[in-house]
Amino acid sequence: MVERLPDDCFALPPGVDWTPVDDALALLRTALRPVAGEEIVPLTREAAGRILARPVTALRDNPPAANSAVDGYAFAHASLSGAGDLTLREGRAAAGHPFPGTLDPGEALRILTGADLPAGADTVVLQEDVTLAGGRIRFPPPRKPGANSRPRGEDARAGDQVFPKGRRLTPADLARGVAAGVAEVSLHKPLRVAVLSTGDELIQPGSTGHGIFDANRPMLLALTERLGFRAIDLGVARDREDAVRQAFDRAAAEADALITTGGASTGDEDHVSRLLTREGHVTTWRIAVKPGRPLALGQWRGVPVFGLPGNPVAAFVCALIFVRPALGLLAGEGWVEPEAFQIPAGFEKSKKPGRREFLRARIRDGRAEIFHSEGSGLVGGLSWAEGLVDLPEPGLTVRPGDLVRYLPFSGFGL
Ligand code: AMP
Ligand code: MG
Repeated sequence: MVERLPDDCFALPPGVDWTPVDDALALLRTALRPVAGEEIVPLTREAAGRILARPVTALRDNPPAANSAVDGYAFAHASLSGAGDLTLREGRAAAGHPFPGTLDPGEALRILTGADLPAGADTVVLQEDVTLAGGRIRFPPPRKPGANSRPRGEDARAGDQVFPKGRRLTPADLARGVAAGVAEVSLHKPLRVAVLSTGDELIQPGSTGHGIFDANRPMLLALTERLGFRAIDLGVARDREDAVRQAFDRAAAEADALITTGGASTGDEDHVSRLLTREGHVTTWRIAVKPGRPLALGQWRGVPVFGLPGNPVAAFVCALIFVRPALGLLAGEGWVEPEAFQIPAGFEKSKKPGRREFLRARIRDGRAEIFHSEGSGLVGGLSWAEGLVDLPEPGLTVRPGDLVRYLPFSGFGL
């Protein structure tokens, strides 16, 4: 059974006004822990992308026996005296067909790639290096015992830990686990993340009415899935307290976390933060970040709520920077830092001190270029971008060629 989070888990220290991004991240990191339950699942392709709830231990050596890395002849290295000159034993060893006998010193056996070395042999000579005549094989002696063979357990030993808990299984991990004899793993149940848009102005695709198309919802649903969580579509709640409450109740019943957009500020029509303040638990985080206005972090009946700004650009950036690592903690994968690297700027920009800035960017010709406008209403810049340039809080001037921190969207799985 997983425990609920403490009610005040998102509380900020007293006196905090503008919270730097790193402080906000550090707070999230200490506030959250896994809430997703566990289940035993076969280690098949359905397990890929899911998160281990317990470490995985090799059940068997891999390979289970020493075997040949090439097509050739197997023998005991110690039985060579000077040049290779051995009696060819009748029979052969092939993958899946081990040789039943034991080689005597001075004997060699035909062996194929992947076959277990026969008893009495520890070394293989490549068939191309051998001359065969009169029931004997001759070859220049291999340099060392064990040549062209793969020792038992060289990849994994029974009892070794092959994966720690919290790992998100990759396709290669399936191969590693299965090769080590693992058939079932204990996984966290997928984290269920509800996504809700709020706003009286929102209309749906295809509508000819006057209003703002609800661009956030498909974006955040798809983003949630790409980040590796299960997304639940809660539709749109109008700017009315009862509508928002009804959606929140549904999230509490069906999901482990809720992402909302719009209504997160402290205005008259900001029902997300109002309702959380009155009947849930909320902390409005004024994070020193651009783009992004206040982020409302709260809980509704024990379910964490991430109240993002309505502006699609701010919602997207805040989802990647704040919500993604938070969901990772809830899901059991631990705190995941975004993939980032330093890259020369292909642009010039002066920024004022105070806020960390995430610019829509992409790499061309080895340099980071940024979208021509920083207008936060420009959704086009989001889809133009392939990553973000992350500029620190202090004021600074970036000149072409200066190194800047770049976060590729591919690093988030987008
Ligand atoms: P709010 O945070 O509710 O004050 O909204 C800020 C801005 O984002 C307003 O211009 C809204 O119309 C816009 N907005 C809110 N929700 C969405 C949405 N789901 N899709 C596109 N724009 C939105
Ligand atoms: Mg609104």
